Amino acid sequence: MTATLIDGKAISASIREQIQSEVERLIGQGVRPGLAVVLVGEDPGSKVYVGSKERSCKELGIYSEVHRLPASASQEELLALVDRLNRQDNIHGILVQLPLPGHMNEKAVIDAIAVEKDVDGFHPINVGNLMIGDDSLLPCTPAGVIEMIKRTGVDIAGKHAVVIGRSNIVGKPVSMLLQRENATVTMCHSKTANMRELTRQADILVVAIGRAKFVDRSYVKPGAVVIDVGMNRLENGKLAGDVDFEDVKEISGPITPVPGGVGPMTIVMLMQNTLIAAKRAHGIE
Ligand code: NAP
Repeated sequence: MTATLIDGKAISASIREQIQSEVERLIGQGVRPGLAVVLVGEDPGSKVYVGSKERSCKELGIYSEVHRLPASASQEELLALVDRLNRQDNIHGILVQLPLPGHMNEKAVIDAIAVEKDVDGFHPINVGNLMIGDDSLLPCTPAGVIEMIKRTGVDIAGKHAVVIGRSNIVGKPVSMLLQRENATVTMCHSKTANMRELTRQADILVVAIGRAKFVDRSYVKPGAVVIDVGMNRLENGKLAGDVDFEDVKEISGPITPVPGGVGPMTIVMLMQNTLIAAKRAHGIE
């Protein structure tokens, strides 16, 4: 039996439509949501990401600015730019594309972004708010994972969710959000003993480790929902997830492909965060 595909492109397209009509409503009230993206250096992957963020803004009617600094820029220059954007009224969201060049202190830069404009959800105050269940700007990829599961019609409450990976940008926040949705959550990482025994108990398995096709069917309970966050570039140039999709789809429940799964959700959640930040800045419900 072959599993149902969770189509990230289709799900993100329907969220985009909702965002677009919300943006139009805000513009009608004199507020145009604005996103500033800062790119330091020439990292090819980062350039592609920044380009697609810019395009998405344009498509949805969100104002955008891209600030490009050379790799040789100093930390002070970058902090001065962030400070300016923090005070710029037409900018509601600020995203500094990571990774930054080695001589820069990423943590200091993230800390400098105004909490209410932190549309990546990486500022320690937003992370803390997520932890205590307060209203925060949620990190985009984890928020996208939850949205996908919900829009697939899966009721998360009461399910056993297993997350492989405990990074600050994916594994930890995904685990926290699943728990917030009333799943019982197990977190696995590189030091986890007998990982298969745990993952085989998962009703929902989220994989974010950065190892191409690592998870085969031996890790998966038949019928489980499988969300593959991994994005790994193979030697032949193709993109592969952390899950061996062809193998796992034979026994799993709904499963995300790579590409076309979690990837398209991340950018649409960034657009959503920009919209939320703009509404909050102007007291619009
Ligand atoms: P990361 O910071 O490198 O973290 C990887 C995590 O996986 C770590 O917690 C590590 O455990 C764990 N891990 C590594 N090998 C393992 C193994 N063999 N068994 C169990 N756990 C293992 O990576 P990340 O930033 O979370 O990214 C993970 C993947 O998601 C990457 O492929 C990345 O490209 C992708 N990603 C995709 C998107 C998107 O938009 N779709 C966004 C972000 C990331 P330890 O903590 O013990 O080292």
